[in-house]
Amino acid sequence: MDLRSGTPVWLAKVPPEPPQPDLDGPMECDIAIVGAGITGALVAWRLVRAGHDVVLLDRRESGRGSTAASTALITYELDTSLIELRRSVGRARADRAYLAAAAGVRLIGETVRDSGADCGYEEVPSLYVASDPADAADLSRECAARRELGLAVTELSSAEIADRFPFSRPAGLLSERMAQLDPVRLTDRLLDAAAMEGARIRTGPGAVLASIRCADRVELVAPGGVVRARRAILATGYESQSYLAAPVASLKSTYVIATAPAQPLGEWPRHCLLWETARPYLYLRTTPDGRVLVGGEDESIVDPKRRDALIPKKAARLAERAARLFPSIDFTPEFSWAGTFAETPTGLPCIAPLPGMPGVWLALGYGGNGITFGAVAADIICAAIAGARHDAEDLFPLPA
Ligand SMILES: Cc1cc2nc3c(=O)[nH]c(=O)nc-3n(C[C@H](O)[C@H](O)[C@H](O)COP(=O)(O)OP(=O)(O)OC[C@H]3O[C@@H](n4cnc5c(N)ncnc54)[C@H](O)[C@@H]3O)c2cc1C
Repeated sequence: MDLRSGTPVWLAKVPPEPPQPDLDGPMECDIAIVGAGITGALVAWRLVRAGHDVVLLDRRESGRGSTAASTALITYELDTSLIELRRSVGRARADRAYLAAAAGVRLIGETVRDSGADCGYEEVPSLYVASDPADAADLSRECAARRELGLAVTELSSAEIADRFPFSRPAGLLSERMAQLDPVRLTDRLLDAAAMEGARIRTGPGAVLASIRCADRVELVAPGGVVRARRAILATGYESQSYLAAPVASLKSTYVIATAPAQPLGEWPRHCLLWETARPYLYLRTTPDGRVLVGGEDESIVDPKRRDALIPKKAARLAERAARLFPSIDFTPEFSWAGTFAETPTGLPCIAPLPGMPGVWLALGYGGNGITFGAVAADIICAAIAGARHDAEDLFPLPA
């Protein structure tokens, strides 16, 4: 699958990593992971630290799938609000999913601290604004629902938003303890650390998972050889539909621009993440070197040629919309890119054993906070491998 195109700002900033070797023969290990994106990296790093012998395969260089396209807003806010999610999956499950996501945000912070990964990590709040006056009442209900869960959130009136920001909106929710980071750097740093501790990473055409066999061991069959493991984890992102009996997520295209660095961010309180109630939504974040990333303008197309042909038009539109919010910032895109994006009908990820394949787990963080759910997946799967119970172990099954 063609996951992205254009130039994500993260790839322009990092010096190329030395290429990882390709798979060129059979391998034996305790745990095999397929997918060296942010999810596979989080899982690998955790498992290696827990003392497991890990082999990790990827058809691409690490971090060069959807992870490179990501804007990496680290938030517990799903694209589906808590009150909406309560309506669609029931109150208990919705509340547990939001709490699991909040724990995921904390886990990412802990991972960055424990690994020492230099990845531009910053803890920031998130401002979710009403795009339309009719959405203000929903935001009030959302605020009350989140507070019931103990999440730190404040409702802002139109006047309070206008007082703090250079724009006005009918209402807003300011949620604390979210974050932002460079997803490629975090992936690369975690995989470097895992490799230093003995993880064997194989990337390239030999490492493309073709099929899975399960007998006394799990066998991952790839052109370069068969990897035999006690357990396997598929952290294969949006390309995972081929292992599933039926598609679980719908695909669309989404667009991002990044400005030049050193923008005047003085009128941007606490450099908060910004997004809105309209669907598709516009969203913005800053970077430590003073760039602004603006994303949105989603289209329900999946054909990469049609997706990519729209990049110039979508980039111009994102810049124009963002400039209406922050007139003193120069939103001329220095980078623009497009990505394929997948979401399940509920907005929840799939973190569960793969049916009919004993010992194989799926770690698929769908939706706008897929990275957060990558951390949740790592936590759930590591607990399962250690034989421990996890609060969220039954929460994200494959949709029926
Ligand atoms: C434009 C855009 C903006 C986004 N913004 C955000 C955001 O702000 N916050 C957020 O949390 N999330 C965001 N997301 C979602 C987030 O980026 C993804 O959820 C996350 O990157 C997924 O990581 P992953 O490791 O699961 O998948 P990937 O990064 O795609 O990694 C999966 C890997 O599996 C490999 N693979 C797949 N199949 C095979 C196979 N058969 N054999 C070998 N290897 C295989 C791929 O090559 C790939 O490297 C965004 C996504 C896009 C596209």
